[in-house]
Amino acid sequence: MTLLLDAITLTYPDGDGRLTALDRVSLEAPDGEVTAVVGPSGSGKSSLLAVAATLVTPDSGRVLVGGAEATGLGRAAAAELRRRAVGIVFQQPNLLPSLTALEQLQVMAHLAGRGARGARGRAGELLAAVGLGALGHRRPHQLSGGQRQRVNIARALMNEPRVLLVDEPTSALDHERGAEVLELLAGLTRERGVATVLVTHDRGQLGVADRVVEMADGRLRPAGHRSAVG
Ligand code: ADP
Ligand code: MG
Repeated sequence: MTLLLDAITLTYPDGDGRLTALDRVSLEAPDGEVTAVVGPSGSGKSSLLAVAATLVTPDSGRVLVGGAEATGLGRAAAAELRRRAVGIVFQQPNLLPSLTALEQLQVMAHLAGRGARGARGRAGELLAAVGLGALGHRRPHQLSGGQRQRVNIARALMNEPRVLLVDEPTSALDHERGAEVLELLAGLTRERGVATVLVTHDRGQLGVADRVVEMADGRLRPAGHRSAVG
């Protein structure tokens, strides 16, 4: 079990009181599977990913990545864990405007202190895997929205993470492009054995999921296997 969230509670300051964004949430994300978290806007999905990514420290509960305790790490250790073990794909690709597609990926290896020569090969291989093998020299403004999101996904996989955290990855894409990106994510998840958590408010996207859980008002409940979702 590569990602384990155990009884996570997260509150934010809210006027005089606190708003409970996550209420004793537990979730297991197995290797090689897409675990989808579906729920309406404001239900706590992005907060859940932020905790799983060690970007936000919960009030209570534990996060385990690859069996290792990820809660309570200092800033530097948390950043190191993210670089080494966690890939993050947010809604907007946030690519660096001046870098080519290949360079976007190579930067990740550089930040993680990995060798440049291996990085070049891996970046090329990953761009090919997301269908952009011939476009490695292009900069973001020379790519379509769907192509940019593919670069984003390839970049998240660059350091061979155990866990891939994906937040509404198709919100900027048309339906067809969105469906392609989801199929791609699911294929890479299985092929590379990563534990993927896909957050979405769109039930139409659950077809690519191996497991679905539902989030409402900061609480999770199982929604069964995808065949039960319909
Ligand atoms: P979702 O991703 O499902 O739309 P979020 O996790 O973004 O939900 O938000 C869950 C709840 O927490 C919402 O009520 C939201 O307004 C609140 N919230 C999110 N981030 C913050 C923050 N940084 N400070 C205060 N409240 C927040
Ligand atoms: Mg969100």
